[in-house]
Amino acid sequence: MASVEISPNQTQTEAVTAHVLWITVGLSCEGDSVAMTSATNPSLEDIITGAIPGMPKVVVHNQVLAYEVGQEYVQAWFDAQDGKLDPFVLVIEGSLGNEKINGAGHWTGFGVNPADGQPITVNEWLDRLAPKAAAIVAVGTCATYGGIPAMANNPTGAMGVRDYLGANWKSKAGIPIVNIPGCPAQPDNMTEMLVHLVFALAGMAPAPELDDAGRPVALFGRTTHESCNRAAFYEEGDFATEYGADHRCLVKLGCKGPVVRCNVPLRGWVNHMGGCPNVGGICMACTMPGFPDKYMPFMDEDPMGRVSSDVAKFSWGPLLRWGRHYNVKRKYDKEPEWRHNRPELTSGYSKRW
Ligand code: SF4
Ligand code: SF4
Ligand code: SF4
Repeated sequence: MASVEISPNQTQTEAVTAHVLWITVGLSCEGDSVAMTSATNPSLEDIITGAIPGMPKVVVHNQVLAYEVGQEYVQAWFDAQDGKLDPFVLVIEGSLGNEKINGAGHWTGFGVNPADGQPITVNEWLDRLAPKAAAIVAVGTCATYGGIPAMANNPTGAMGVRDYLGANWKSKAGIPIVNIPGCPAQPDNMTEMLVHLVFALAGMAPAPELDDAGRPVALFGRTTHESCNRAAFYEEGDFATEYGADHRCLVKLGCKGPVVRCNVPLRGWVNHMGGCPNVGGICMACTMPGFPDKYMPFMDEDPMGRVSSDVAKFSWGPLLRWGRHYNVKRKYDKEPEWRHNRPELTSGYSKRW
């Protein structure tokens, strides 16, 4: 478990002001930061106003939220580099370009190097800050696995944070890179994990358990399919044939949910509303390593999905559906007999006019 030293005279909450340094300018569209502003459980406001009982003070540096501009805004990153902000969690949004193949330019830039007036790349910020960070979080599929900028034939050599620092990298507090994939990442997944890490750094919670792909198990342990409210239709071999109002399973329209780790159908998008297949959109596997190339064309049925859904459709599925609906009609839609088996148990109501 990771923890940060706390003076014996201080309470844990007083002792730690954790800074979140959130770099949005990898090869990125900043969609994760925008998504994060709609988090509700916990909300960004809960975090920055200290509304969560017992939580250490948190200062979030993110340009989507900042009033400062230019050098004044970037100063926090220089302070972190100089050891003046400690502990801090470094959040990376967007993939990292391979600056060895940037020609005469640079793929990313954040702030200006005072020594030569040149932009500082995100890769260079990682070189400077990774040794000092208490934890590093990659948000969005670009930062976790390369995502859209890393599609085949891209000229940038785009990669995720683990590709750059190495899958075995650990922070000085002993925490591996935490991956929160999604395009964008689900808002509450980001805020919840930040709060978890802050508690962990204060010694008040264990570090998050991660799977082999660096994802928190608590958030990515289930597949989309295991969380989807259409899953019973799959089991009963009942599939949608067109987009729109058809409420049945979308696997024949290209849904990749059975092989995708994602909690969006469970958690919804904003305050438990929405959630891709729940509301009629196929799962495109946006949380997965290899997205998007590996799952294209999105609207084509997956070959394994076809086999498995056809088995359900032409074997037990219709039998299950028929048996359940028959049982509901025959047995469960009726009140139990003991309520009406004697005259005195009924109201005896009769019209008086
Ligand atoms: Fe934008 Fe998606 Fe990349 Fe996030 S993962 S930066 S939302 S393209
Ligand atoms: Fe599974 Fe997709 Fe069907 Fe939902 S819509 S049950 S995720 S295949
Ligand atoms: Fe992405 Fe599928 Fe999850 Fe929707 S359900 S967020 S498409 S992985």
